Amino acid sequence: MRKAFVAGNWKMNTDNHSGVELVKGIKDAAQANSSKVDVAVFPPFVYLQQVAKAAEAPIAVGSQDIYFEEKGAFTGEISSAMLKDVGCVYALCGHSERRHVIGETNEIVNKKVKASIDGGLLPVLCIGELIEERKAEKTFEVLTEQIKKGLAGLTAEKVSAVTLAYEPVWAIGTGLTATGEQAQEAHSFIRKLIAEIYDETIAENIRILYGGSAKPENTAELMAQKDIDGLLVGGASLKADSFSAMIAAAV
Ligand code: PEP
Repeated sequence: MRKAFVAGNWKMNTDNHSGVELVKGIKDAAQANSSKVDVAVFPPFVYLQQVAKAAEAPIAVGSQDIYFEEKGAFTGEISSAMLKDVGCVYALCGHSERRHVIGETNEIVNKKVKASIDGGLLPVLCIGELIEERKAEKTFEVLTEQIKKGLAGLTAEKVSAVTLAYEPVWAIGTGLTATGEQAQEAHSFIRKLIAEIYDETIAENIRILYGGSAKPENTAELMAQKDIDGLLVGGASLKADSFSAMIAAAV
């Protein structure tokens, strides 16, 4: 049985004070629902340490990105050891904004997934199609390539550390949410693909989150889908009230 997982990606938002207030503000909802829902927040790098200190169990903290080298002359980059050192448990890998704004390739994302696992972090591998790809009926092709390349070289044992996040790019930050049916179709495809690449047990156990304008109003519909195990939430995770409502509705 897969436990629900609700994760808040704060992107380049919050500040010194508001991030700490935000994580404190979701404590009650996270604690009240902890037997049924795992909760994590992904603050900007510079606030990770203080948010991790303020985050009371069971809230976990993750990074929005990671670099794949262990240390050395990589100006501006952050290693898995540094992230662990400041209290991170998870690392987002291949968020669509990193793929499409910063230009990360599937090969880079794969290195980040591997570096996360090797460094003792739990990667959340983000995948999803652009609107042009959906219109051209290439959604499954894109997802197949992102998954096969993103997980390339990972043994069955290592892939058990991975959470997948299906985030159709056209739904991220646009207010356009995939319908429950659209999301379920993609999630079911992803789970079958994992069974083909690995096996049925791994496919049954891997958590697949949905992301893309998820909010309190559509949480129940999305979470009612058989293959949706949780949500990766951007905008609606920036308000303690709305994120708390989503945690409560995700059980
Ligand atoms: C995201 O950043 O992963 C995301 C899904 O954003 P939003 O919920 O704002 O669409």
